[in-house]
Amino acid sequence: MSDFVLLVLSSPSGAGKTTLTRRLQQSFPDLRFSVSHTTRTPRATEVDGRDYHFIDKAEFVRLVECGAFIEWAEVHGNFYGTSVDEIDRAKADPNCGGIIFDIDYQGARQIRAKVPEITGVFILPPSMPELLRRLRGRASESEEIVQRRFQVAMREIEHYALFDFVIVNDDVERAFDALRAVVVAERSKRVRKAHLAEALLRSGEVPKVQAPNG
Ligand code: ADP
Ligand code: 5GP
Repeated sequence: MSDFVLLVLSSPSGAGKTTLTRRLQQSFPDLRFSVSHTTRTPRATEVDGRDYHFIDKAEFVRLVECGAFIEWAEVHGNFYGTSVDEIDRAKADPNCGGIIFDIDYQGARQIRAKVPEITGVFILPPSMPELLRRLRGRASESEEIVQRRFQVAMREIEHYALFDFVIVNDDVERAFDALRAVVVAERSKRVRKAHLAEALLRSGEVPKVQAPNG
């Protein structure tokens, strides 16, 4: 296992994944955001190819049928999927140290079944009223869509046990510190660093220890 991390972030909509992902990429520029394909309509601030690959349903179905997705799911009435290509390109890039996936629990479960070594992080809102406030505060969707997302939040939270870490996004800086710690800890795992210890052992150099009084 190398330093390459596969960080899967999930949460109910509005809990703060996008906000935390942006912060994480500033702190770890070698982490690449996995750009999913979706049939959802773009929000005003979203850019095709940066936030999502926006495609229609016929194209989505075609990609599913040709096995282009490592995982896909229907979420809030739209289809979302992660392409195998996205992962292969990141792994082939020598400057890329890992991938951040912003996907729902159904996708997280599918990826985990294929790639058990992912690091799964579930983001919780501090309370349900605050989640609703954030969904409304994003001001990019109608009240109907906000309500639809809020209604399924509980079902999403029920799946927290699929993840390795749970972080409460009460304060962005505090949540970000916790997320950063997860990445640092993941990269420090013995299985990832064993080769360094083994190389030192193989080098056979016995360090000269200086006596305290010269
Ligand atoms: P998600 O990607 O999980 O749907 P976003 O990152 O889009 O969530 O966050 C939803 C809204 O909540 C955004 O307007 C964002 O600025 C805001 N937000 C995120 N984290 C916090 C926080 N800790 N405190 C207050 N507002 C937050
Ligand atoms: P949004 O429409 O707010 O961008 O995303 C809605 C939900 O879809 C979020 O829970 C987000 O994590 C999830 N999502 C985004 N991309 C993917 C994907 O490729 N696969 C799956 N399974 N879920 C995704």
